[in-house]
Amino acid sequence: MTDQERVIKDVIAFTERKEEERMLDGVKSYINRIKRQRDNLKIELKKYKSDEKIDELNKEIEDLKANSLFIFSEDEKKEEIKFKKEHRDCNSNIYYYFKGTEVGVAAGLKCSKCGLITDITDYSRW
Ligand SMILES: [Zn+2]
Repeated sequence: MTDQERVIKDVIAFTERKEEERMLDGVKSYINRIKRQRDNLKIELKKYKSDEKIDELNKEIEDLKANSLFIFSEDEKKEEIKFKKEHRDCNSNIYYYFKGTEVGVAAGLKCSKCGLITDITDYSRW
């Protein structure tokens, strides 16, 4: 093998190696692109699922509202519990009253024993 032949062989080997590396890089970047797409799809899917869940919960809330006479706010619930505690010794029935007005529904409680009436309306909801 002459020097010239050896050089040509080396150049060809080098070129082939470079070509292989380029192909490999191409495959690597293709895989990376697919992985990124997969990760993005995962995020999308998660978002979609949680949106669906929120819709479901909103529907449940709407159903509850439609099928309940009245839904107390957190503050009204606290007032209700307080009232019940205060009249535990009365050992009687608690009457609930609701008064519809133009701006909202007022809620009140009455102890059937001592007759105390308490307005528990959460006016912040009006
Ligand atoms: Zn009472």
